[in-house]
Amino acid sequence: MSTFQAPKGTYDLIPPKSGVTLAVREAIAAPLKNSGYGYIETPGFENVELFSRGVGESTDIVSKEMYAFETKGGTKLALRPEGTASVLRAALQANLHKLGNLPVKLWYSGSYYRYERPQAGRYRHFSQVGAEAIGAEDPALDAELIILADQAYRSLGLRQFRILLNSLGDKECRPVYRDALQGFLRALDLDEDTRRRIEINPLRILDDKRDAVQKQLAGAPMLRDYLCDACKAYHEEVRELLTAAGVTYEDDEKLVRGLDYYTRTTFEFVHDGLGSQSAVGGGGRYDGLSEMIGGPALPSVGWALGVDRTVLALEAEGIELELPATTSVFAVPLGEEARRVLFALVTELRRAGVAADFSYGGKGLKGAMKSANRSGARYTLVAGERDLAEGVVQLKDMESGEQTPVALVDAVNAIRERLA
Ligand code: ATP
Ligand code: MG
Repeated sequence: MSTFQAPKGTYDLIPPKSGVTLAVREAIAAPLKNSGYGYIETPGFENVELFSRGVGESTDIVSKEMYAFETKGGTKLALRPEGTASVLRAALQANLHKLGNLPVKLWYSGSYYRYERPQAGRYRHFSQVGAEAIGAEDPALDAELIILADQAYRSLGLRQFRILLNSLGDKECRPVYRDALQGFLRALDLDEDTRRRIEINPLRILDDKRDAVQKQLAGAPMLRDYLCDACKAYHEEVRELLTAAGVTYEDDEKLVRGLDYYTRTTFEFVHDGLGSQSAVGGGGRYDGLSEMIGGPALPSVGWALGVDRTVLALEAEGIELELPATTSVFAVPLGEEARRVLFALVTELRRAGVAADFSYGGKGLKGAMKSANRSGARYTLVAGERDLAEGVVQLKDMESGEQTPVALVDAVNAIRERLA
């Protein structure tokens, strides 16, 4: 062991398990790539104000969890705690919204950083795959994103996840509701922190996990009863489109999400096998975010799915993904001449697209065969002086144990045929 350990709240991805993480990222990205979403990559850090204005000063993410720092040049930056603000910033900067092709649909995959209390499923460095559809107000777009997330989870074989759906209203109806809710909350018996929250972010209190708070919330005004006609109709259409697509969801009128920028449609994906860190993904509409960060009005919708928790969800359901074998052919040379010949053959196989590996380090036959076994290769190629003199290599089928000589000149083709 070295003197150093991975920092608190982080972990390393190590083979073979790292293969599962890669496969999860790919499974989430696949339906997006197939639905008109283009790949975007933004820096790992941004001007801190992008997040304080976009995500919101009053949110936990900005007030407690952000890794903010000042550069030697005096610029205030923050490691990105989430993807939406950065993606919208990048789209605006590149004027993607002016190309006359709205919505701009983008997907991303990367690392995110939050200074949280580490626990199972909650890390300081974690990974998300996300999607944003920028510049269109259309319930079909909200539905599309939810359907694609559902497809991604299903393609991984997950079954114990649920989709929670709500509408947070818009700039017409939400302020009216907010007033009503604040009036109700001010009359409750709450701690000082929560009382402060009434004034800055009262909707978040609905999401408070403590029993003592939840008990008092019985009879609280519900946003559903305050939605304006436009929001109601919009939400109804999202629901109908989901139902028509065969996507099951639950109406959750208390779902508020922890970011300030959400309007209208909000949703969360929860997995029942994960204990308290049950949210595997979330998202919603953010019609006002562009203006909050100095852009034009661009109604948009998006989601981010947590890769780490999706991997945990697979474990919870006992799902083993069928990962393609990393190595198909493993070469074991016996002697110097065979070493040169088999190394050349491995290079040729790789160029022909066959996953091949080689016994390095001058191991003896026994040690080399052990490596071949561990590699999971379907075939082992063995050659010694006598084989080479006859112009052949021995091809050993690792499943049946059967060994057949194949002509060296024809080896690449013979192996490809067998693997096909
Ligand atoms: P939570 O309520 O669990 O804190 P959140 O509302 O803060 O989640 P979002 O900002 O919506 O989460 O991020 C989307 C997804 O990213 C979450 O559903 C979760 O799967 C994942 N995620 C968020 N924070 C973490 C973290 N600290 N560690 C691992 N995954 C995370
Ligand atoms: Mg959080």
